[in-house]
Amino acid sequence: MRAAVLDEGGLDVRDVPEPVPTFGEAIVNVAACGVCRTDLHYLHGVPTAKARPLVLGHEVSGVVATTTSDRLPPGTRVVLPPVIPCGRCRFCLEGRNTLCASMAMFGNHRDGGFAAQIAVPAWAAFPLPRGLPLVESSVISDAVSTAYHALANRGQVRAGETVAIIGCGGVGLAAVQVAVALGASVLAVDVAEAKLRAAERFGAKGVLDAAESSDLGKAIRQATGGVDVAVEAIGKPSTIAAAVEGVRPGGRVVVIGYSEASATINASRVMFREIEIRGSLGCGLQDFPKVLDLAARGRIDVGALVTHRFPLEKTPDALALLESSAPDLIRAVVVPGGPP
Ligand SMILES: [Zn+2]
Ligand SMILES: [Zn+2]
Repeated sequence: MRAAVLDEGGLDVRDVPEPVPTFGEAIVNVAACGVCRTDLHYLHGVPTAKARPLVLGHEVSGVVATTTSDRLPPGTRVVLPPVIPCGRCRFCLEGRNTLCASMAMFGNHRDGGFAAQIAVPAWAAFPLPRGLPLVESSVISDAVSTAYHALANRGQVRAGETVAIIGCGGVGLAAVQVAVALGASVLAVDVAEAKLRAAERFGAKGVLDAAESSDLGKAIRQATGGVDVAVEAIGKPSTIAAAVEGVRPGGRVVVIGYSEASATINASRVMFREIEIRGSLGCGLQDFPKVLDLAARGRIDVGALVTHRFPLEKTPDALALLESSAPDLIRAVVVPGGPP
């Protein structure tokens, strides 16, 4: 089969053996695999758990080809979570499987979704509700589920609260939709006009062009009086600090952006204002049915999140588009069967 393989020389689209299922696994024909910034990190040298060669990609929807599970007959449309938790470690048993000590992530610990087929433990594949589009629903796997965990669990966003979403990329704009679905009033922050317009279409009450302000945290406070929850979806020390500055006393800051750098925050503000700073990583498997239900009820518009579709042979171009920070890009997906 064809696959986009991360090798010593970079990303190479070539023929590889088809995946062989181990006991309890299903083989899924990949309908689409979303392109995520994490893929870029691996491409640029962040080490992967499985040695190269490795099939990249972790945001998969598809159709079951073969399985030994009664739950998933061949032909079942499914969404795969990006990470398979072990189910046995302390964190899994506490219901915090995003922290699993023995997690296996597609396109990192095991071969991923930029391929014609992928193997998955059958218990970890989620049937896609009828009415949801197969290709576009791939973004539920990572972008939408990550936003859900960040807002519903880590941010504990309640109806009527104000939420600032700082950074309107794929996850950020999914977060705008999820926050609106949870009943929050959203202020979207970005430097790209097209991203801010998209946030408005997704229900954001206000937008803030970060390029126009020298003090982003102050600008957020001036626009809202201080938000209940600020979500940092970029992974930049300066915007993490701005999130801390932008919340009201007692507010919550949720960090979903990835950065290796240290952020400098005002410790006295954290203390005097009892600000809570919480990290957020992916989404627990127990929440996938809730996320799929939000999408099935039309509260999340997955079709509007997918702006670009690439054939498998052009996977490197899809990654290059993300790297270029194209203003009209929300999520690009690789469609191994060819663009519909
Ligand atoms: Zn990802
Ligand atoms: Zn575990």
